[in-house]
Amino acid sequence: MPGSCKECHCLWAAHAEATLSHVKGVNRQQIAVKEHNAAVLAILDPLVLEAGALRTTTLQALRDHERAAHSVDWPAVPRVALLVGSSMFDELVSRVLPFIVGPF
Ligand SMILES: [Zn+2]
Repeated sequence: MPGSCKECHCLWAAHAEATLSHVKGVNRQQIAVKEHNAAVLAILDPLVLEAGALRTTTLQALRDHERAAHSVDWPAVPRVALLVGSSMFDELVSRVLPFIVGPF
């Protein structure tokens, strides 16, 4: 990403915001699971799915721009991003996220 490209900066900012929102949502889900709070989970589940999809979309937009405008050859979006919302993703998040985010 060239430092002077305004579109890169906007796309990175959008992806960073989407990632933060998704991670916060997943973290809140994990807390709700530990607290057996079904009411909160019912609210959070669709929001986290939406946040995960937005995270994937913003990453793809960034990569598409970098490929087209700056000839950066990105691999496809990681397969883990395609697992968002699946039980495999939940398992991965529950094992890894506590080491990354910590309690809030
Ligand atoms: Zn750019």
